[in-house]
Amino acid sequence: MTSTPSSPLRFQLLGLLLFLFIPLVLFLFVRHPEPVGLSLAAGVALMVGHRRLARPYMREAMLRKCVWCNRVLSEREGVVLAIRARNDIPGARCCAGHEAPAARFFTVLDTWRLPLRIGIFVPLLTLLVALAAAALGREILPLPAATSFFQLAIGLTVHLAAAGSLFVRAGAEPPTVTFPVHNFFLLGVRTLLWIFRLVGLWWIWAGGTFFFPL
Ligand SMILES: [Zn+2]
Repeated sequence: MTSTPSSPLRFQLLGLLLFLFIPLVLFLFVRHPEPVGLSLAAGVALMVGHRRLARPYMREAMLRKCVWCNRVLSEREGVVLAIRARNDIPGARCCAGHEAPAARFFTVLDTWRLPLRIGIFVPLLTLLVALAAAALGREILPLPAATSFFQLAIGLTVHLAAAGSLFVRAGAEPPTVTFPVHNFFLLGVRTLLWIFRLVGLWWIWAGGTFFFPL
């Protein structure tokens, strides 16, 4: 089946729109507007729905855009960066000059997958359990503490991912990406890393000052 590709601008706007699901989900979890149960349910539904929408976008994006700088490439431009992911993706296109930083980033995700997974999964699970308990009128652990722990741990983890390229070198084998890979094709990795750094700083501050007041 072939379809006419959308214009570059429309395609980029669609990527931006799909990206905005992520801050919306984070807002629902971190601010958890009352009723908490509804915020939790909406956040989880958006997370699941986002995956279904973002994966088809990724399949087109990896053929059309540079995975690093997000530029729409002409047919003759660029190179293909080999990466492995669960759903057998064909590799990511990128500008010739952006193959090296993109390869390094995906190698970081592969090499440091265990600490990065723990750094995301443990605080996320902690916050979701605390939100579910609060929605049921119980308190397993205080919601402000669970939220601040989530922000602090996620802030540190995304900084670790963003700084990893300074310490890890790309190897000969294609890196395996075990994280939800579609998220890297919405705005490109370079922009995403800047968002990680800036929001990460804010969250380290917000979470850190909760546990260690100035
Ligand atoms: Zn590029």
